[in-house]
Amino acid sequence: MKTIQDINFEGKKALIRVDFNVPLDENFNVTDATRIQAAKPTIIKILEDGGAAVLMSHLGRPKGAEDKFSLKHIAEKVSEIIGVSVKFVANCVGAEAEEAAANLQAGEVLLLENLRFHGEEKAGDVAFAEQLSKLGDVYVNDAFGTAHRAHASTTIVAQFFPENKCFGALLAQEIVSLKKILEEGEKPVLAILGGAKVSSKITVIENILDKVDHLIIGGGMSFTFIKAQGGKIGMSICEDDKQELALDILKQAKEKGVQVHIPVDVIAADDFSNDANTQVCDIYDIPDGWEGVDAGPKTREMFDKVVNESKTILWNGPLGVFEMEAFANGTIALGNSIANATKNGTFSLVGGGDSVAAVKQFGFADKVSYVSTGGGAMLESLEGKTLPGIEAILK
Ligand code: AMP
Repeated sequence: MKTIQDINFEGKKALIRVDFNVPLDENFNVTDATRIQAAKPTIIKILEDGGAAVLMSHLGRPKGAEDKFSLKHIAEKVSEIIGVSVKFVANCVGAEAEEAAANLQAGEVLLLENLRFHGEEKAGDVAFAEQLSKLGDVYVNDAFGTAHRAHASTTIVAQFFPENKCFGALLAQEIVSLKKILEEGEKPVLAILGGAKVSSKITVIENILDKVDHLIIGGGMSFTFIKAQGGKIGMSICEDDKQELALDILKQAKEKGVQVHIPVDVIAADDFSNDANTQVCDIYDIPDGWEGVDAGPKTREMFDKVVNESKTILWNGPLGVFEMEAFANGTIALGNSIANATKNGTFSLVGGGDSVAAVKQFGFADKVSYVSTGGGAMLESLEGKTLPGIEAILK
């Protein structure tokens, strides 16, 4: 696996695919700069070697060149974080971009305009990728968040750098962390899957049954399993057409020697709102008109024990409707359990969508071993797929 550490960038221009798809407020201020911070080590290494950096990214989902999605809005923030006054060019390809890249000196940084202002980016257009390739001597992919897309800048452009392409520090870290879970995890290995639906995680479950010793199924998706086993779930979220599948997963897990842990009790609410009335119920006996919205006290205790006996933990998906303060406590309790296990030497990775939001919101980001920067990319990796952006560098 070739990374930026294997290359001396002195006198070279690195064309770096970063993920600067950051949230902006109505005045175009960056409200969460995590992704810019995450790309910093790669950029700094290249500049310190005596190289120059050409940064390319997408921002949002523009339909053509829409000013509100211009990367010019974030240039100042990037300058502030990198500590270098970043130059900006109002097109990511063409004469203007080529001239700006050609004039770039060692130690300088150039930010290109939003890649998605050109439809060719998402189409994976080869001619567009070739135009991008003119802007650097070495191609560096450091955008895990888009590594599952075969777009021009994430995948196709790599073919124009057969000998001069590598992973950035962030993407390399994502790959190594995933490997620690899926291939080299110290036993016992535990996967915790929560969130709303079984259907969105089914391929993940099937793939990781071969890799883990324990599987916790929590959150909204657990009710499909409870109902399939004859439980009474009231108004709880359930995918009726996935009940057979749920039983099949339990059967497969048994055959593979995976211990499955499903909630035993639940906080039930009489309304899907923060000020609903609540009660603790047996998860197999939720009264009519009530719905399970968070893990119950016995479940939290049970999960705490499994977590603290595990040496490797993957966490994807909350245990309850954590967006509502009243139903966040099960997810917070799980975060505390994982933080404690991590303190005692367990490797813990949090990844994929909402669990990352929960971990950040409740202050656990520094208390777990690794928080992934990719939602869809993380899920596809857990499904056992090789991501096109990663393969393009390895090839
Ligand atoms: P996912 O994107 O699949 O990880 O699902 C995350 C979502 O699942 C969050 O928005 C949670 O509010 C939701 N969720 C978790 N537990 C429940 C539940 N018991 N009932 C309804 N939604 C839930």
